[in-house]
Amino acid sequence: MSTAAAPFDVTRVRRDFPILAQHVNGHPLVYLDSAASGQRPNAVLRAVERYETHHHSNVHRGVHALSQAATEAFEGARERARRFLNARSRREIVFVRGTTEGINLVAQAFARPRFGPGDEILITGLEHHANIVPWQMVCEQTGCTLKVAPIDRRGELDLDRFLRQLTARTRLVAVAHVSNALGTVLPVERIVEAAHSCGALVLLDGAQAVPHTAIDVQALGCDFYAFSGHKLYGPTGIGVLFGREELLEEMPPWQGGGDMIRTVSFEKSTYNDLPWKFEAGTPNISGAVGLAAAMDYLEGLDIEAVAAHEQRLLALATAELSRIPGLEIIGTAAHKAAVLSFTLRGCHPHDLGTILDSEGVAIRTGHHCAMPVMTFFDIPATARASFGCYNTEADVDALVAALGKAREVFG
Ligand code: PLP
Repeated sequence: MSTAAAPFDVTRVRRDFPILAQHVNGHPLVYLDSAASGQRPNAVLRAVERYETHHHSNVHRGVHALSQAATEAFEGARERARRFLNARSRREIVFVRGTTEGINLVAQAFARPRFGPGDEILITGLEHHANIVPWQMVCEQTGCTLKVAPIDRRGELDLDRFLRQLTARTRLVAVAHVSNALGTVLPVERIVEAAHSCGALVLLDGAQAVPHTAIDVQALGCDFYAFSGHKLYGPTGIGVLFGREELLEEMPPWQGGGDMIRTVSFEKSTYNDLPWKFEAGTPNISGAVGLAAAMDYLEGLDIEAVAAHEQRLLALATAELSRIPGLEIIGTAAHKAAVLSFTLRGCHPHDLGTILDSEGVAIRTGHHCAMPVMTFFDIPATARASFGCYNTEADVDALVAALGKAREVFG
């Protein structure tokens, strides 16, 4: 009996995303901006609608049926996220607003109370602002130092330099799993191993990795892993911070309020168990429900099959764009996720984005919240096409045709 996997049926996948069926500026929408935010399949839209229509109430505090249904849905979503990451325990899954909040939580509740002058935090030259600024704030607050491991002209981490910058002073290594501006996939297993051998802990910014690769935090061995639901075909305003239980246990809460306490008096309050100690206030319940549905959806498609499909599109688009005179691809790492950044001679990326939009092609232009990457390549911005599970070869053709129009305009 053949064990060959069924071919990836992108036509069927597209039917799951009603938003893609529209026309923009008189052209069928070609959505090439999934790295900024993925679109939502019906399964996610319906799960959120079902929750809002039938089950909504506040969680944890009610004895009535709706509150119990909401609590079950919310805590069920936590268990779904635990399985998605293969974390040991639900206590290690903290719901946050997204990657940004997850990283800030670690910065303020882990790094700030522990680090001081002489301690170092090591990041890389390709980080998103969300994995730079929270550490700069901690440095200002504690006197510790931020070190940056350089990248090379391909957009790859200079691993030798990184390893040399890793010393006994390094307390924390915080790196992207995948770069949003360049597409580079970082050698995170090697980074975790090297950091741990120096006694440093590791936070991985998984915002761009989760839609393209199955994550196993135990196999990765990382100490913290943060990601956002909306990059994963789920809702905005919800994400997950995974933290090893022993670490979360030792960390003080970072926000005070309802739900994160066990007892409150004017003299002293005591704190709730994990993970609720880090979830002050009413959470994004429907967001968590939608996120769980997104995880079901993506795993139902088979993340590896999705990734293989996206890699075919990336290879095709890379080959096609490389043939366009004056076009330069920014980020040519050997191991990339489905992100293609580029510049076109004589045309500012924002103008390029506007022309492409007039052809119905949605790409992102700008610094992609990675200004130091732009500085490194000495450019103000790039145009970025990014691929998701619903993109097709026809989308690549439309991108190439629209770039042809832009070249006509800009000569
Ligand atoms: N890190 C990376 C690599 C990203 O691509 C993004 C978003 O683009 C973020 C962090 C921040 O994610 P969010 O805005 O969802 O918190």
